[in-house]
Amino acid sequence: MRVVLLGAPGAGKGTVAKQLTEYDGSIQISTGDILRNAVKAGNELGKKAQGFMERGELVTDDLIMDIMEARLKEPDCAKGFLLDGFPRTIPQAEALKKLLAKLNIKLDLVVNLDVPTDVILDRLTTRRTCSNSDCQEIYNIKSKPPKPDGTCAKCGSPAVQRADETEEAIKKRLSTYNEKTMPLIDFYQKEGLVKSIFSLSSEEIVNQVKAAVKK
Ligand code: ADP
Ligand code: ZN
Repeated sequence: MRVVLLGAPGAGKGTVAKQLTEYDGSIQISTGDILRNAVKAGNELGKKAQGFMERGELVTDDLIMDIMEARLKEPDCAKGFLLDGFPRTIPQAEALKKLLAKLNIKLDLVVNLDVPTDVILDRLTTRRTCSNSDCQEIYNIKSKPPKPDGTCAKCGSPAVQRADETEEAIKKRLSTYNEKTMPLIDFYQKEGLVKSIFSLSSEEIVNQVKAAVKK
């Protein structure tokens, strides 16, 4: 399937994407993960992105489009993809549209994960992420805790709070989402691609996406 996942930070895009990859072999492409790996590696891309990310701001559209153009040309995308965290602005959505036309690829669906703000805030402050860049398993200290010593149940690396999960950065990320990313729902609605899902259960969301893609 070729799907875009929209939703506020903490709406569950990453969790849903991971579950859908297991369903049909479509790959998850998370611009957030790509950028965090670059920051960790300390490479050129990471140096450009780090400041923006720590403040909870978006990195520039040009930088993101360079990453995504290269990524979508990789052969593994032929199996389908779940775009998690991209596009995030109208210029990115417009650039993606051109890019997909050039590559002769059509999107099946744009999923809008609709989650109330109080749930989002609670999730973001209680979220922990595996610090191993090859794993990045997501935990929640209330509903899905890491091991008692704070390490990842999958790989044993420490599960940590992300640098952009301070209260201030979280507020910034949410206001950026409302201002820059919400308008994409309208953009894709005009293309007849949007399915809004109002649910707090990732299993239920996954089932609804599967059903919608089959149609
Ligand atoms: P979340 O959705 O939980 O906020 P992500 O992991 O998707 O987090 O992104 C983390 C950070 O990476 C963002 O706050 C932003 O700085 C940067 N980023 C990720 N994707 C994009 C994008 N498509 N455009 C601009 N910045 C991005
Ligand atoms: Zn891990």
